[in-house]
Amino acid sequence: MWLRFPLVSKLYLENREHKRKEQAETIGARTLSFVLYGARVYATCMAKTAIVLHHSDILNTYPQAERIIKTHLNNPKIKQSSAYHYLIERNGEIVQFHDEEFIGYHSGNWLMNVRSIGICLGGDFTREKPTESQIFTLVGLVTDIQRRWGIPLSQIFHHRDVKATLCPAYDLRGAIEEGQTTLLAKRLRTAETALSRPMRPERRNLLSRLIERLRGRS
Ligand SMILES: [Zn+2]
Repeated sequence: MWLRFPLVSKLYLENREHKRKEQAETIGARTLSFVLYGARVYATCMAKTAIVLHHSDILNTYPQAERIIKTHLNNPKIKQSSAYHYLIERNGEIVQFHDEEFIGYHSGNWLMNVRSIGICLGGDFTREKPTESQIFTLVGLVTDIQRRWGIPLSQIFHHRDVKATLCPAYDLRGAIEEGQTTLLAKRLRTAETALSRPMRPERRNLLSRLIERLRGRS
């Protein structure tokens, strides 16, 4: 470095004007790259790549949405009108608290909060099970979110996978997997039955391709 220094210094003196221009350009390029970097970080923050599952820890009550809002607003670590994006009430009803792009403080893990959608099922699953309606709704909601955001099954987590907690104290992920397998089998059966009926060749073609796709996924 010290060997090169006099040369650099001389060049700098000789080309002061040129250097000034170059510097301005560098700053311009840096600003641009900073803006692009910021945009990329922002875009990354906005993209949801995971789902985190919770229980509300409130024993068999309906409805629970208002109670969750009150609790979360009063929690100094959260201070949001619900840290979750969705609540599935005991009767299977969905309450959406926020747009999916919202960053909810639901997992106690900032990096996970930024990239995930939080779904909470009403109930205290250390003492009771989720209802059948809740599981039915959960499977539908999760499948829809997965399809829209391109989230694979491996990116569906229980709260306890990302933080030291018992939540959700029930194998919701297993229930989702089971539900999706059943749904897939049902769709496949329906499509196969339909194929045995007479129909136009173009429709038969489409249906055959659908069956092939479904078989590939099951
Ligand atoms: Zn939780």
